[in-house]
Amino acid sequence: MNKKVRVRFAPSPTGGLHLGGVRTVLFNYLFAKQQGGDFIVRIEDTDQTRFVAGAEAYIFNTLAWCGIVPDESPLHGGPHAPYRQSERKPIYAQYALQLVESGNAYYAFDTPDELEQMRTQYKTVENPAPQYNHHLRSVMRNSLTLDADEVARLLAANTPYVIRIKMPVDESIAFTDMIRGEVSFNTSQVDDKVLLKADGMPTYHLAVVVDDYAMEISHAFRGEEWLPSAPVHILLWKYLGWEANMPQWAHLPLILKPDGHGKLSKRDGDRLGFPVFAMEWIDANLNETIAGFKEHGFLPEAFVNLLAMLGWNDGTDQEIFTMDELIEKFSMDRIHKAGAKFDYEKAKWFNQEWIKRTPANALLLRVKNLFTAQGITMADDAQLLKIIGLVKDRCVLLNDFIGQCGFFFKTPESFDTAAIQPKWDAAKNEFFTAVISKFELQSPWIAADLEILFKEQAAALQLKPGELMLPLRIMLVGGKFGPGVFDIAETIGKAAMLERMNLVLSLLELS
Ligand code: GLU
Repeated sequence: MNKKVRVRFAPSPTGGLHLGGVRTVLFNYLFAKQQGGDFIVRIEDTDQTRFVAGAEAYIFNTLAWCGIVPDESPLHGGPHAPYRQSERKPIYAQYALQLVESGNAYYAFDTPDELEQMRTQYKTVENPAPQYNHHLRSVMRNSLTLDADEVARLLAANTPYVIRIKMPVDESIAFTDMIRGEVSFNTSQVDDKVLLKADGMPTYHLAVVVDDYAMEISHAFRGEEWLPSAPVHILLWKYLGWEANMPQWAHLPLILKPDGHGKLSKRDGDRLGFPVFAMEWIDANLNETIAGFKEHGFLPEAFVNLLAMLGWNDGTDQEIFTMDELIEKFSMDRIHKAGAKFDYEKAKWFNQEWIKRTPANALLLRVKNLFTAQGITMADDAQLLKIIGLVKDRCVLLNDFIGQCGFFFKTPESFDTAAIQPKWDAAKNEFFTAVISKFELQSPWIAADLEILFKEQAAALQLKPGELMLPLRIMLVGGKFGPGVFDIAETIGKAAMLERMNLVLSLLELS
């Protein structure tokens, strides 16, 4: 019988979640949901020196924003709780000891000074950073080089020790990665990683294997940067006697800088002016607040969609997918092996498409919040809905609603009269003076009627309406943008329209 699909996202709470991290979450989630499986979030916080307060809450807030709900996690509970490795500390040591007993791991008593000395003594031009490996373990203070009595004495005296894996010499570890295909490593290239630290905490390498086993993980999706650790993990699965239960591996390709050279980093975002984090991340150490996709005005639907397309497609030209469509169409064999270049212009295109597709009422609250943050209170929902409907096709980012809607609520702070003045003449002045008088008498106030009235007046004075539209737009909006000018006229109402027209008319000079 096939194992139930159970996947895990296993972040270390060391900072904000960037694009690559959220894409790993997403691919885990899509695969699990498509297969009717479980998506688990496990917090890998065994390295207390890298712990960052707030990082775990940030991860869950980001998942919630993206619409991804874990089946099991420290927050959501589940049958394999606890899901925070620091709370599972007592579980790991027994496995490290089991590995020592079976001869696949050993005690190492080297002090930090001794390790430092080893690194200096064995440093050469060819090997600038000597590692504790199958060569050097024979010259260090460990249970492979010390005799059994000495080891027993050191242990009895509570001498600090770590437990290291004993990497075999010159063996090949091969496995089939779901994305990369056949992968193999020579064990001589891999150092003897620490499994259990002096404080009794496991390292990531031991904890990830023990927990993937305990939590019955069937497929392990993670970033490509973990590929070099795979041979260590595979050996641990084997040495612990769990090989038959080992998950299938899927190492996801990197997200690359826009020019394709190297992994996308937070610094690229700073340098090129785009977000890299999902949501705002406050770096307490650097005393820095870094805005994320959310704060830049991305809809979560667009963010999820653009992430899915970074390294995957469904084999057709379709680019816009809802989460449900992604769950239905996702397939491992369409994930590219090569890294995916991040293109911010394309990311914005996804957002623009999503704003267009999202009904005005689903944007209402978000737009209202934007205005509230600007100190503008929106009381009339029906009016705001109408305005959102008028301008949403012109917004790339949510924040664009401010500029696109602002003139509906208050008189523009400035009017681009410079765009009208060069062609302003007595005939136009006469036309606008006349049309204002007609508008004053107009009732009811409906876009189509206003347009007819405007055009009739132009015809009466033998002017082309085309030349009058730009001045009218600037009178109402302040600049050369915005939706249909008579829709704007209807929406802002008679009083505001006449006030603005009179104001701009008084600013224009007859040459
Ligand atoms: N804790 C690792 C990380 O921070 C997880 C790697 C894995 O999924 O095995 O990314």
